[in-house]
Formats: sequence, C-alpha cells, structure tokens
Amino acid sequence: MMQKPWETVIGLEVHVQLATDTKAFCDCPAVFGAEPNVHSCPICLGQAGTLPKLNQQAVELALRAALALNCQIAPTLAFDRKHYEARDLPKGYQITQWRYPLGKDGYIDIDVEGKIQRIPIRQVHLEEDAGRAVQVVDREIIDFNRAGIPLLEVVTPPVFTTGAEARAYLEALQLLLRYLGVSDCRIEEGSMRCEANISLRPQGSDAMGELCEIKNIGSFRGVVGAIAYEERRQASLLQAGQPVPRETRRWDEARQETVPMRSKEQAADYQYRPEPDLPAQPIAPERLEKIKGNLPELPLERQARYISQLGLSPQAAKEIVSDLALAAYFEEVLSHYRSAVEVANWLLTDLRALLNQAGRSYADCPVSPVALAELLELVQQGVINQTMGKELLGESFATGQSPAALVKARQLQQVNDPEKLKGWIDEVLRQHAAVVAEYQSGKTKVFGFLVGQVMRLSAGAANPHLVNQLLRQALARHGS
Ligand SMILES: [Zn+2]
Repeated sequence: MMQKPWETVIGLEVHVQLATDTKAFCDCPAVFGAEPNVHSCPICLGQAGTLPKLNQQAVELALRAALALNCQIAPTLAFDRKHYEARDLPKGYQITQWRYPLGKDGYIDIDVEGKIQRIPIRQVHLEEDAGRAVQVVDREIIDFNRAGIPLLEVVTPPVFTTGAEARAYLEALQLLLRYLGVSDCRIEEGSMRCEANISLRPQGSDAMGELCEIKNIGSFRGVVGAIAYEERRQASLLQAGQPVPRETRRWDEARQETVPMRSKEQAADYQYRPEPDLPAQPIAPERLEKIKGNLPELPLERQARYISQLGLSPQAAKEIVSDLALAAYFEEVLSHYRSAVEVANWLLTDLRALLNQAGRSYADCPVSPVALAELLELVQQGVINQTMGKELLGESFATGQSPAALVKARQLQQVNDPEKLKGWIDEVLRQHAAVVAEYQSGKTKVFGFLVGQVMRLSAGAANPHLVNQLLRQALARHGS
C-alpha cells in the first residue's frame, strides 16, 4: 500500500458545563431548558457596580477533574478578563483562566481496543459561558440564561493522528467526567462541546502545518466527520501547491462539511488583563489532599477490578463500565446477589434486549436491581428454572410487578417433589418404550430426548436437575 504523503495532526479543546446548582459568579440557577432570560441578574448581565462572587462548588468540581486528570495544580487560583465584542457577551469580556489554568501537564489513560494509551492533557481551566442567540417566533433574541454558567475547558496538545483516536479520547473523557460528577456531558444539550485543531504535515515531518480550528461540532460522529473532511480539503490544497489559510471554520452537520467562520488574521486581540474583582487566592494543599482522598473509583480502575476480582470477561467489564447507569445498576444487583458473571450475563443479554425494545435505559429500568436479584435467587434455588426466569423477567418488565409476586400469583414454583417427578418419568418411560430400549442398548444420546419429554409433560415446571437424577435412576432400574 502506498503511504499517504500527509500526516494529520489533531488537538482537541473540550468545554463541559460544570454540574453546579448556580452560575459561576452569581446566584442564578444553572439549569438547562428554561424559557429565555428567566435566569439572569445584574451580575451575569455585567451591570455597572456589581461584583462577581466566585462559586466554590465550581472550583471544587474543576479541581476534582484536574486531579483525576493527573494535572499539576497551580499554587493560586487566578482569573483574567478576555476582551472581545459580541452581542451575546453583555460585559464585553469573558472571565477565564486561559492564561493561568488551575491544572496543567496532566494525562488520561484510555483503552483503545484493549490497549491502554496515555493521552497528554495540556491544561484544565475554569471560564464562564456567554449567552446565545435563539429564535423566538419570527425574531432572533439573545438568551442570557447561559451567560455566566461555569465551564471547564480541557485542552490536549496536537497528539491525535486519526479521527478514531480523537473519538476514543472524547468518549473516555466524557465517561471520566461523568464518574466524577463534574458534568453530565450531554453533547445534544450543549453541556459538552468539542473543537478540533487540525493540520497536515508531510509524512514523517516534525514541523507543524497551518492549523484550522473547527467549531460547532455537535456529536462525536461529527468530530470524526470534520476531521475526515479537513484531511481531504487540506490535502487537496497542499497537493495543488496552495497554502492552507489559518482560519476558524464550523462543522455543517447537514452538509457534512466545514465552512469558514473567520480568518485568524482578523481575530481580535483579546487583551487579557487580570480580573480586578477576583484577586488571586492560594489553593491550600490540604484542600487538594481532601479532594484527592474523595475521588471515586474511576472507569479504568473499575474495569480492571471487574476483570480481576469479579471474573468478568474484558468485553463485559468494558460494556458495563462505559455506561454509568448500567454500572450503578450492576453494583446494586451485586449487593443483593453475589454471582457477578451471572448478573452481567442477564444485564447484557436479556435485560438489555428488553430495554432496547422499549427504547429505555438502565437508568429508568422498570425492573429494580433488587427485583432482579430476587429473580436470580429464585432461579439459583431451583424454585423456577432458567427459561421461566427469562419469561418472568419479561413479565416483570412489562407490569412492574416483582418476580417473587408473579411466581406466587401464577404458582410457577418449580416442582421439586420426587414423587410427582417420578410419576411424570414413569409416564414418559411407558410412552417411549422403543427409545428406552435404544438407551439400554448403549445409545445414551437419547437421554436428552427423554428429559425433554418429562419437562414437556410437566409444562416446564419440573426441576430439570432433579429430573436428570431421577431419570438416570429409573433407567438403571429398567435395565436391571
Ligand atoms: Zn446571574
């Protein structure tokens, strides 16, 4: 295969909305989906004479993320004003830590097809969101509900060379931040936003090409699409001997292409100045120790524990860990029923099928973890067999009734009474004398057929384990 003449280099900037109750510098609620401009006040609208008040919950969450991302933490917390003109920016500047990030030089380990890759993190910092233009009936207005919402920005150096790598990183970062409770990272609601810096350089070169910044990417698939589109666009310019202009572009999801927004030459000089109303304050080492001590089990650690201690397959462990609601459900079932492999099987096959069919997630599963544990217990104790268990799961899913209640109501208890079982077995042996003769002559393969007949006769209620035992005994008697 011919080597491609160009190598792609990608850096990612991710903004996530911190899961705080209120905005970064005022007491306005930080909620999604409200009517435009119901959550604004003189502070977040930047009126004269108001003072920002730093939200300590936002600082706490940002430090949590920076520590989990293995960053060096700055000795002081400092903010700048970044000046630019925009109609969605009431103050005329944004408060940001871009120049003095609270965390830098960290990394995140990600699992790419079973191999752990370490992705460097250049910096992690706090900043505030701006308002945004929204369409109200026939007019466009600016909604300031989002102005002043605390954001965390996580920046990587240009280290990715394919869209697949970039996507794997974004998924791992999203999962980590969800585990930490730092952000819900919902791309579709704008609480996670991705920007990609993409440039091409001759294969094997260390030089950096002119980079294009792609904004407005609304999905992980969009990130992969934007990277692929830029690779083609920039390569064809370079191939034709033309320079790639340094510019900011946006991803057009409908057209599946990037389109120019503004060139970097025209970009404003932001004139960063220290924010006079938020003087730099030291970050106490004890505070960091406390946050570090309270970090939850992180996704990769949990995955490793599921494999080494619970005996799950790497595939099952990864599937469970990568869905926060599923992982929580799994842990909850396990606290009532100990066989992890069995629980994982039920969750990833039968329960998943039911959820998919109903278009629901593990977070709003109608069968509670306790009810599922109860069901597994019934199967394990032999009160019902596996097949009945699966039927009951479906019924419990549809009706919301607990499996134990359903067993009672339908008298589904498995039949363990040896006398009753022997009755069915004798009946089958009488009906299938020819098969019995085959068995006696050494064709032991027909044993399964006879078990099946007994199960059928009992309408599925017989305990298959006991049927096996008693049938062997009965056949031995017949043969003698
Ligand atoms: Zn406010």
